[in-house]
Amino acid sequence: MDLKIVLLGPPGCGKGTQAERLVAEMKFTKISTGDLLREGVRLGTPLGLEAKGYMEAGRLVPDELVIGLIKEKLAVTHGPVLLDGFPRSLEQARSLEKLTRIDMAVDIQVNEDKLVHRIVMRRSCKSCGAVYHLEFSPPKHADKCDKCGGELYQRSDDTEQTVRARLKTYKDQTLPVSQFYREKGVLHTVDGEGSIPQVYERIMNTIKKG
Ligand code: AMP
Repeated sequence: MDLKIVLLGPPGCGKGTQAERLVAEMKFTKISTGDLLREGVRLGTPLGLEAKGYMEAGRLVPDELVIGLIKEKLAVTHGPVLLDGFPRSLEQARSLEKLTRIDMAVDIQVNEDKLVHRIVMRRSCKSCGAVYHLEFSPPKHADKCDKCGGELYQRSDDTEQTVRARLKTYKDQTLPVSQFYREKGVLHTVDGEGSIPQVYERIMNTIKKG
């Protein structure tokens, strides 16, 4: 049976990094609403233009926009699926339930005071989206992606002020999503502190145990 997994956790918990590894090693198809929205902003699509202001303010893009995006993607995705950054509100979680079955929600937990430091030191590749941390997983050459040679940049919403707003949004709107999946009996909590391979191993063990 093809697993459908939701990755939950605050901004900076390592969702994107862990999702990349799961894609590479377990052949999951990753659907990341953050990546899709950033792509829309970059290309100047109507969706991107509408989303930009919300993203830069650290707020959630309106539910109907992201739900529409997920609906389109799920319709053309086959095999095991990993949802990264969706759902982020109860409304989104309820809509997702109508679209597909979710087997497991993996909630990556990291102490709040570590999150800001993790995010402001983050650099992303403009070309392939790979993510680095200047202290924990630095690129071999400053400003250049190890994987594709693309230019590294700091996401406009990775500044300290926006990160604090994103953390507040997470607490107000996304924490209830964990409770939603707990009540369904599919929530698994994973300690997100430690090295990237350590956290990956915890996630893999969780997935294997089901
Ligand atoms: P991320 O890359 O997952 O940290 O997402 C970056 C930004 O995109 C968030 O701070 C939101 O503004 C927006 N975003 C991503 N996913 C969602 C979602 N499921 N619902 C609403 N807004 C989202």
